[in-house]
Amino acid sequence: MKRPSVRIDIITVLPELLNGPFSHSIVKRAIDKGLAEIYLHNLRDFSTDKHRSVDDYPYGGEPGMVMGIEPIERAIQSLTSERSYDEIIFTTPDAPTYNQKTANRLSTLENIIILCGHYKGVDQRVRDHLVTMELSIGDYVLSGGEIAAAVITDSIIRLLPGAISDTVSALSDSYQDNLLSPPVYTRPANFKGWKVPEILLSGHAAKIDEWKHRKALEKTKKLRPDLLEDEK
Ligand code: SAH
Repeated sequence: MKRPSVRIDIITVLPELLNGPFSHSIVKRAIDKGLAEIYLHNLRDFSTDKHRSVDDYPYGGEPGMVMGIEPIERAIQSLTSERSYDEIIFTTPDAPTYNQKTANRLSTLENIIILCGHYKGVDQRVRDHLVTMELSIGDYVLSGGEIAAAVITDSIIRLLPGAISDTVSALSDSYQDNLLSPPVYTRPANFKGWKVPEILLSGHAAKIDEWKHRKALEKTKKLRPDLLEDEK
């Protein structure tokens, strides 16, 4: 059986910004193990302009610049002519909010393109005709889509079987099962009188599980009651 792996192509005007996030820890190890491939593409390479420009003044006289459709179409075309893509994602604040459910689904795909916006965003025709999915990483505005692309890519890759040595660990994280994670502790058991809950030291597996579930539920009720509503 083919080992599950994902290929993510990121189209950006700032590829240098994305070298860091993928060169460490779980993401780096997943790439080294062949579970994931990430390719960064400089949108300026697809400009036919002698200044390699990819943006222009907006019609209608708004302030700010808009990324034009032509280089973006050429960049996407150069990738889709090589292989088929399951999703072509545009990162933008005016889109449905990214969450763990979407991360789970994306982690089952093989080929994904992520297009990073800049300036005022992209010509609407890119959104209407070239992308298959739009995602916001939260209700705030970033300067560019690169950090959003890094967030999405990291969250997908850590879910790939084999990316985390303890595979159960990814499944017990917050938002899986609509619950926040219970509190975790490590040694020392007593730090200046601040003690680790007795039950965790008891070695009683069933009771510990019950405690963890109760704590997760309490925390979710207190901090994110909306998650429990979602489940109904
Ligand atoms: N004028 C746009 C914001 C542009 S911000 C608006 O008001 O909706 C520039 C780029 O940063 C966007 O095109 C997008 O790619 C990226 N970006 C900004 N905030 C983001 C967010 N919350 N999630 C995902 N991408 C975001």
